[in-house]
Amino acid sequence: MSAPQNPFLQSLIGREYGADHYCWSVLDDLFEIWPHVMAAVAILLTIFNTYLMGPPAYLAGSVLALALQLLSRYVLYRAYVRRGPNASLDRWLSIFWVAAASSGFLWGLCLSLLLVDASPEARVTILTVGCVMIQSASSRAYMAPLPALSQSGLMLSMLLGMTVAQGDYLMVPIAVMFVLFQLAYLRRLIGLRLGQMEADMERTQLLGQLEKTNTELRNANERLARHALTDGLTGLPNRRHLDRSFAELLANANGSGQPFSIVLIDVDHFKRFNDTYGHLAGDACLTAVGKAMIESGVRATDVIARYGGEEFALLLPNTDARTARLVAERMRILIGTINLSHLPGKPAAITASLGIASKKHDEVATEQGLLSLADAALYAAKAEGRDRVRHADDVDLKDRAGRRRA
Ligand code: GH3
Ligand code: MG
Ligand code: MG
Repeated sequence: MSAPQNPFLQSLIGREYGADHYCWSVLDDLFEIWPHVMAAVAILLTIFNTYLMGPPAYLAGSVLALALQLLSRYVLYRAYVRRGPNASLDRWLSIFWVAAASSGFLWGLCLSLLLVDASPEARVTILTVGCVMIQSASSRAYMAPLPALSQSGLMLSMLLGMTVAQGDYLMVPIAVMFVLFQLAYLRRLIGLRLGQMEADMERTQLLGQLEKTNTELRNANERLARHALTDGLTGLPNRRHLDRSFAELLANANGSGQPFSIVLIDVDHFKRFNDTYGHLAGDACLTAVGKAMIESGVRATDVIARYGGEEFALLLPNTDARTARLVAERMRILIGTINLSHLPGKPAAITASLGIASKKHDEVATEQGLLSLADAALYAAKAEGRDRVRHADDVDLKDRAGRRRA
């Protein structure tokens, strides 16, 4: 349902302070038919009382105005109750405004017509009922200030006009006092209501701010968490991320009995690269390697990470040794094709050595075990002349024992 855009309509029920559901709940009360039925009974009794004291000059007109008032409010009440789910709040606020004013007019007309040539005793009753109705119309001002004001204002001016027209000037000071009393009363009611609405609005705003701050905090935390798991230079997952993923993926593979492979990738002679072209070019080279690896088309379930320095790691869930060799070979060729000629000194293509270790079907492996096997295979690749892929299955592990890579 649409929120009223018209500021005048908004002011009718303090819309600027309330939500749509609040406006509709106020309208539910304002369109209720029972207050009108009770007012009609009171006026009917007044008409009867006036009639007993001498038939009023405009009895028929008065009854007609009363019937019209009750009928129109009943028709409106039915239409309001049956409004569809897409009813416009603006439209029903406008309708209520007209309905309130026309009720004031018809009640005023009904009682004013009774006043014509009425006996003093009848006049007292008519004016008493009129005042009670004005008072009850005013008491709804906390819900709809302007319609309530217009309704009681119309009634009061019609009753006063007719009393003066009938030569009763004493009514003027009484009416002035009544209006002053009414205004003070209305002012107090409206003030209380607006105060409550402002407090509601403030609370809603504070809740909104709190939610916004919470969202910002959540986003900042997410950014921080992402940051903590990302390598600043290459944008690849960092070592911490790798360790977590490795533990998780290997546990899954051990549990499901699926194969699993890890590839360690080490850029060849990178110290020399740095010494020749400078560390900035070295950084740019590592960034380019990271980018090429991201774009190499590995599966979404694979993890490429910067292991440290000029070393990278590739986790290949559900991948046996044969496939891991193919993937690693593809990666080696890809690294060899990275174009670095835009860097200072126009470096030639770099190469990398890759070591693989695999866990076979239904085998249980540990992270440390696989890592040291892959490291041994990488050592073998380096030892055999670099720019090649070696699998731990092909390496004589005794050869590796107790030694560090050269
Ligand atoms: P090998 O072929 O045996 O791997 O020789 P290497 O020179 O690549 O290996 P080594 O371990 O001797 O040297 C690695 C170099 O990588 C030394 C270090 O300065 C450089 N390096 C490590 N991290 C970074 C980095 O973030 N940026 C740059 N520019 N250089 C780095
Ligand atoms: Mg190294
Ligand atoms: Mg190296």
